[in-house]
Amino acid sequence: MNSFTYTRADSVEHAVDERVAETGARFIAGGTNLLDLMKETVEKPSRLIDITRLPMTSITETIEGGLRLGALVTNADTAYNKRVQERYPLLSQAILAGASPQLRNMATNGGNLMQRTRCYYFYDAATPCNKRQPGSGCSAIEGFNRIHAILGTHLFDQEGRALEPQCIATHPSDMCVALAALEAVVQVTGKYGERTIPFAEFHRLPGNTPHIDNALEPDELITAIDLPPNGFADNHMYLKLRDRASYAFALVSVAAGLELDGDTITNARIALGGVAHKPWRKPEAEALLVGKPTTQESFQAAADALLAGAQGYGANTFKIELAKRAIVRALGQAAKLEPTE
Ligand code: SF4
Repeated sequence: MNSFTYTRADSVEHAVDERVAETGARFIAGGTNLLDLMKETVEKPSRLIDITRLPMTSITETIEGGLRLGALVTNADTAYNKRVQERYPLLSQAILAGASPQLRNMATNGGNLMQRTRCYYFYDAATPCNKRQPGSGCSAIEGFNRIHAILGTHLFDQEGRALEPQCIATHPSDMCVALAALEAVVQVTGKYGERTIPFAEFHRLPGNTPHIDNALEPDELITAIDLPPNGFADNHMYLKLRDRASYAFALVSVAAGLELDGDTITNARIALGGVAHKPWRKPEAEALLVGKPTTQESFQAAADALLAGAQGYGANTFKIELAKRAIVRALGQAAKLEPTE
């Protein structure tokens, strides 16, 4: 591990000022991913700015009727919060599907959004990786890519010709898949003040700059995540498919939320995890469900639309069919047509 200096911030403004003053500085809270990255020399911060004492540790009501999740509330405290469990059970389910109890006790909500891909090559400094070292190549495309992306990897030149993707990594979070389905909003503060980022715009596709994971400016700090009033509490499902029963990242996950009038769908949200560089949503696919009955045929049409254009790279091609089946199943479970166990 490289040497670094350490500062404990005593206010959000202090944290931002410290970050502005030193380009190589990084914020640290739970540290459940950053410390791994430092040990593997993927991240080499010159300074750690400890933000754990900042006043971002509560879950409060918003004036719109939703909940504001402080960035420093732990994943465990969020998942087991009574208001989250009652009004946003999809989010509780997703958080508890991720990591281990020990990690969820340490990891914070802001850190969950900031965690980086678990692509094996990204953590192996001996291999080419465009995300770790731009321009070096992508070892996963021709390598072992079972956990990698099938959506959003395409790259085209100005004439519309297909180019080799720069990166086929996936975002590893479960929590973020539910937040995408719920259309959460990320509150951030930087040197120019506060701003909000809609969740769909927070994480980005790799394009030509796979080393940039999200829309944050370098000096910006996540302070909270706002949940809108509609939590799809009556009809929801987080379905996670993985290589082992616990403590594994998703091969495919589905966060599904439905609003129903009888057996007619009036509103639908579907977000996928484990398939792209960011939680994957396609509003056109969700719109296909509105006004339709809760049938296998309706769910299959939405699944086909969501996976349109998907591309496998060998060891991960199975995910295309797996994702479609997972969507159909999760929607059936959200509609209470199938058991959830
Ligand atoms: Fe690096 Fe992305 Fe390729 Fe993995 S998929 S080796 S993170 S460029």
